[in-house]
Parts: sequence; C-alpha cells; structure tokens
Amino acid sequence: MKVTRLPVDPGLSGWNEILPAPEAAEVLEERTTADFLVIGGGYAGLAATRRLSQLHPDARIVLLEAKRIGEGPAGRNSGFMIDLPHDLASDDYGGAVEADTAQTRANRAGIEFAAAMAEAFGLGEEAFARSGKINAAASDKGHRHNLDYAKHLTAMGESHEMLDAAQMRELTGSEYYRSGLFTPGAAMIQPALFVRGVARGLRSNRVRIFENSPVTELKRNGAWSAVTPKGRVVAPKVILAVNGHANSFGYFKRQLLHVFTYASMTRALTGEEVRKLGGSPRWGVTPADPMGTTVRRISGTGGDRLIIRNRFTCDPSMEVSAARIARVGRDHDRAFAARFPMLKGVGMDYRWGGRLCLSWNGVPATGEVETGLYSACCQNGLGTAKGTMLGMVTADLAAGHRTELLAEVLALDPPKRLPPGPVTYLGANAVMRWGEMKAGREM
Ligand SMILES: Cc1cc2nc3c(=O)[nH]c(=O)nc-3n(C[C@H](O)[C@H](O)[C@H](O)COP(=O)(O)OP(=O)(O)OC[C@H]3O[C@@H](n4cnc5c(N)ncnc54)[C@H](O)[C@@H]3O)c2cc1C
Repeated sequence: MKVTRLPVDPGLSGWNEILPAPEAAEVLEERTTADFLVIGGGYAGLAATRRLSQLHPDARIVLLEAKRIGEGPAGRNSGFMIDLPHDLASDDYGGAVEADTAQTRANRAGIEFAAAMAEAFGLGEEAFARSGKINAAASDKGHRHNLDYAKHLTAMGESHEMLDAAQMRELTGSEYYRSGLFTPGAAMIQPALFVRGVARGLRSNRVRIFENSPVTELKRNGAWSAVTPKGRVVAPKVILAVNGHANSFGYFKRQLLHVFTYASMTRALTGEEVRKLGGSPRWGVTPADPMGTTVRRISGTGGDRLIIRNRFTCDPSMEVSAARIARVGRDHDRAFAARFPMLKGVGMDYRWGGRLCLSWNGVPATGEVETGLYSACCQNGLGTAKGTMLGMVTADLAAGHRTELLAEVLALDPPKRLPPGPVTYLGANAVMRWGEMKAGREM
C-alpha cells in the first residue's frame, strides 16, 4: 500500500532548536533485512525498539523515521509525563474511578520504562526528572476544578496536596494563580533532549536507526517490505508507531481525530529579567481547566526561558498553515503577558504546532492489524507516557511475550467510528473553541 501522507511539522520546536545541532542523519540508502522493523521514532517507536532489543538481544532491529528524531511531535510537546487520568474532553481531567485506576497503572508502567531508559542511557535530570506536577488554577472556577479533581484523587487513593496563591507565587514568580493541585507521580522531560538521547542510547550493531527516511510504501509478500525514497527494509514483523499517521498507512480509517495544539518559547531571559521574575528556575503547570494554558519554566541548555502552550484545533488534513501558527501566537502572547507582567517586552524566539491523535472513546489504536503488522498508535494527547507504554506492550505482542498489561491493553474496545468528515471536524472545532472560551482566565 502506498502511504498517502507524510508528516508535516509546522514551525520549529524551541525544545529541539535550543539543543546543539545533532550529528548528520543516517539515511537508509540500501536494501536490507531485519527481524523487526519499527516505523516512527517518537515515544512509541523508541520504546518498542528498546523493548524488542531487551527481549531479543540478538535480533536485528531497524527503526525508520521520516524526519530527524526530535523534530516531530515527540520533540515539540510540553514534556509532562503524566501518571494520573488526563482526559482532555472532561471538565477536570477525571472519569470513572475504575477505568482511571487502570489507566494510571498503565501510564505508570510507561513512566517507569522511560525512567529506566533515562537511567540506562545516562540522560540526566534536564532530560528526565521525577518532579510531580501541578494543575494551576487562575480563577474560582479553576479552583473548583482542582477541588473536584482532588476529590476524585481521594476516591482513587492517590496522594495530592493543594497549594495556595502564596505557594504558587513562590514557585512561579507570578501573582496569576489562585491555587495549585500538586500530584507527585508525574515526570517532566525536555522532550527533544529525551528522545534524541534515547535514540543515541539505542543505536548498536543490532539496532539501526535511519532518519530522514520516510516509509512511502508498505507491502507484504511473505515478509513485509517498507520502501523509502532511497532504500527498502524487508522484515517479517513490523510495528507501526506513527500515531495519527496510521490513517496514512490505510488503518483505522474514520476512527482517529487529528488535533493540533501549539506552543511558543521566549528568548533567553537576561539575569535582570530572571531576578524580576523570581520563583524557581524549573517548574511546569498544566491548567486546572483542560482547555487552558500550560506553562513551563526552564533553566539550563538554552538559558532561562518560559514556554506557553494553548489552543486546540481539529485538522483532518494533518497540516496547518504558517498563518495559523502566527494567529495562535497572539493567544500565547496574551497568556504570557497576563501571567508575567514583569517580563513586558520579552518576545518569543520560537512558535510551533504539533499533532495529537485522539479517539472518540479515548482508547489507543492497537493490536495486530494484519499478519505480522502491529499498531502502537493513537495516544489521546498524552503520548509521552501512553506512547511509551503502548510501544513497550506492542513490542511484547510482536515478540510473543505475554504480560498482564498487554492483556489489559488488548481487552480495550477499538476506537469508535467517527461521524462523516465535516460533521466530525466542524463539531470537534466548535466544541473545543467553546471550551476555550469558557476557560476564561485559565486560558
Ligand atoms: C505543543 C504540544 C504539547 C504537548 N504536550 C504534551 C505533554 O505535556 N505530555 C504528553 O504526554 N503529550 C503531549 N503532547 C502530545 C505528544 O507529543 C504526542 O502524544 C506524542 O508525541 C505521541 O507519541 P507517538 O510516539 O505515538 O507519536 P509521534 O511522537 O508523533 O511519533 C511518530 C513519528 O512517526 C513519524 N512518521 C510518520 N509517518 C511516517 C512515515 N511514513 N515513515 C516514517 N516515519 C513516519 C513521525 O515523523 C513521528 O516522528 C503534546 C503535543 C504538542 C504538539
């Protein structure tokens, strides 16, 4: 089958740009064979590769990535590896206790796996830190979301701590927040540093990673054969780890929603600006209202910077224009000015957007979709943790290694069928826009 669309990543991700330039890419320019082929070098593809190499140390594994590792969504997200339920379609992230408990268990398995990779590959605190996370509330309504979510966490038996406005100011330097709900289980990553470090750690004489090598055709003739512009890989087993681009390979048609979210990163702050801002050098807050604004403050490679993320749009073409990035950038600037009036005049160095893949019923697109072809796609907006977990268990499936977690994932319903095209995306955009307008000060 011909791959109908290749990934297009709008704008340069600041996370990737502030890092030293990577070594030259190794491009697939040969015909080769492998025991396992992994397509896609995000969280799912890298975790699948790691797991396969642990289960079968002698196996020859090839990973093909369309772009450079760190350029795609895996290197352009906000870097919250969240353990707890994080349902973007809810008012306060929570759902039914039993399902949320199972989801938390699965997310934690992903975080543990990521932590073990960070440790094994010596990635350091800047790339991966077990910091916990805070849902920040800027309004009474946001605070009520925090209280509701805290109640939900109590029902789940999960520890949490409510921070008041003074504690939030001490952490962030900003007077903007009314409260914060701290939960200890999340990890925070520098996403591009993390995925580039994992890819570097994985490479060996058995594991080969080719970048700038998009799969343009995938066909089965006994074994699977993946064609790239300059080469070909033949393998009996293939893991498809391309998130929403599963559709471009012909799978899960009309079952996946393609959503973009957007971020801007400031220029490096001067010493005087850092002093004026105050607060801690490294922190991150997700919004108490899922439609609100995420903020991160970083200090390290690339200097002291703030990163703002907000807005969601549904784009079935899986592409957005430069004009859209510029327009959404104005929402980022408003959110930045409201939170950090002491940094008036600090501009943004980078603005970008990136793809999420959601399903109507919040489940992944997984399992053996054809003989020897396994899908580890559709992370429902939380790919750092869920993608890692899904990559790991899909590798188990492909390698014939049965685990309890794999059984739980395989027992999930498939992604529900979506209404016909325009109904879905017009409806999704209307619902998201309405949610953003209702988010008020949380935006
Ligand atoms: C601004 C922003 C903020 C976000 N914040 C968070 C957050 O804080 N926490 C969180 O968990 N998630 C967050 N996300 C979502 C997260 O980035 C995704 O869920 C995650 O990257 C999905 O992981 P994945 O491995 O499934 O897919 P991806 O990371 O999308 O990786 C798939 C890879 O497949 C490659 N590919 C596609 N087609 C082909 C082909 N034909 N041939 C070869 N390769 C191909 C792509 O180039 C891509 O690199 C955010 C996203 C954005 C854009």
